[in-house]
Amino acid sequence: MNSQGNINIEITCKNCGKTFTIRDLIVNIKDCYVNLNVFRTITSCCESYEELALENGLALRGYVYAAGQPHFAAMEKYDADDLSVDYSENDVQVEFENKIIKIRRK
Ligand SMILES: [Zn+2]
Repeated sequence: MNSQGNINIEITCKNCGKTFTIRDLIVNIKDCYVNLNVFRTITSCCESYEELALENGLALRGYVYAAGQPHFAAMEKYDADDLSVDYSENDVQVEFENKIIKIRRK
C-alpha cells in the first residue's frame, strides 16, 4: 500500500460532500476495539463514523471486517510524523502533537 501523503490532506466525505482530514480523525478518536488495534472516530464535517488503525508515525484508514474473527482491512495509508501509540490490553495511550490521549478499549 502506497502512502496517500500526510494527515493534513483533504478527503472528500462520501456522506456530505465536504472535506475532512486524517488529522481531524485522530483528534476525534472515541474508543478502541478490544482485540484489534483499531479506533472508532468521527469526521469533523458531519460526524460520520470512520475506523483508523494507528501506529508510530502512521495512520491507516479502512474498516473492520466482522465476518468470523474480526480484522481490519486497511485501504489507505498516511504519514503521521507526530504520532506515537502504545497499545495495551485494556487501554491505549496516543501521543499526538505533544498531547496525550488515553482511550479505553470497548
Ligand atoms: Zn461529512
